[in-house]
Amino acid sequence: MVDLKGQYHGIKEQVNTSIDAILESSAFINGPDVKEFQKELEEYLGVKHVIPCANGTDALQIAMMGLGLKPGDEVITADFTFAATVEVIALLQLTPVLVDVEPDTFNIDVAAIERAITPRTKAIVPVHLFGQCANMDAILELAEKRSLYIIEDNAQAIGASHTFKNGKKQKAGTMGHVGSTSFFPSKNLGCYGDGGAIFTNDDTLAHTIRGIVNHGMYERYHHDVVGVNSRLDTLQAAVLRAKLPKLDEYCDARRDAARKFNKAFEGQENIVTPKTVNGCAGICDTCDCHVFHQYTLKITNGKRDALVEHFQEKGIPCGVYYPIPLHKQKAYLDDRYKEENFIVTNQLIKEVISLPMHTELDDEQINYITSTVIGFVNG
Ligand SMILES: *Cc1c(COP(=O)(O)O)cnc(C)c1O
Repeated sequence: MVDLKGQYHGIKEQVNTSIDAILESSAFINGPDVKEFQKELEEYLGVKHVIPCANGTDALQIAMMGLGLKPGDEVITADFTFAATVEVIALLQLTPVLVDVEPDTFNIDVAAIERAITPRTKAIVPVHLFGQCANMDAILELAEKRSLYIIEDNAQAIGASHTFKNGKKQKAGTMGHVGSTSFFPSKNLGCYGDGGAIFTNDDTLAHTIRGIVNHGMYERYHHDVVGVNSRLDTLQAAVLRAKLPKLDEYCDARRDAARKFNKAFEGQENIVTPKTVNGCAGICDTCDCHVFHQYTLKITNGKRDALVEHFQEKGIPCGVYYPIPLHKQKAYLDDRYKEENFIVTNQLIKEVISLPMHTELDDEQINYITSTVIGFVNG
């Protein structure tokens, strides 16, 4: 699905030199690379504060702790996402409220959010799924009207932008009150272990969060709030510093592969290619609205499962993200959920398949993948 080794070879010298220097200095925790990476990412994203942490799940949890959400507060998020999003809501004893998504972008459905709002609703967590922003115009408007916090789960869309209706453009993760990301190796900006970060433009919230990630300490050995231990280590920061300057190039390579996939699947009746929003009908050369963390097709003639098996036989990697909606997961069952409110997710789990997508895909691989899909689905 990803080719981390090929990508490593492109930055090997820089990565190895930085790692050697860190080994010599032994500054494994809070070394200078962490601060430098923080500044570089703030500049790249155009956000006031980046707070690095240990992983993307922690980043979400800490964001919610920073906002002071209390047990019983309802937090609305998408039914069709990775479990980390709902897990931290439940861990903090907040009440997760899952809602349906849009059938073409796979992102949270704003009308469904609106229907789910109650007097106890405190926050919305839009997940920018597969590399493309949720409908942030409508979500921010709704949040403002109903005085709700927006926590962007940006684990899959770092580097993507959202163009607002008024023409203003902002990076994914920097539009809400707070955003989170993951540097898990297979994410678009991945390190060589676990890593994550929290973003915000709010000075007070940033200060609160900087204490929370460090045991609730704002002054050495004074613990003002209950915190956690969540750090990005120096070695990971050094890897990320080598990769950040190449992030746009990596995103371009993914978009380029997506464009070729799209072209190959043009006119295929039973294969639906992913929709890109922000006004570009297809995937234009200049638009950065989608960074294709995943390239996800819908197979509409009932052959998805058989296609997955066929891929396995042929030795082509593929993924089904996600095979079970969160509202049907044992850990998150809730009497309030009615199947008629999850029509889209219930359908998507039967149709989606994600193809190999990374920065090192060549034309030969793309042709092999697309002809295998087309041959099988029409066969
Ligand atoms: C990967 C991911 C996370 C969690 O990130 P980790 O670094 O693995 O903890 C959270 N949300 C989404 C949508 C993800 O894809």
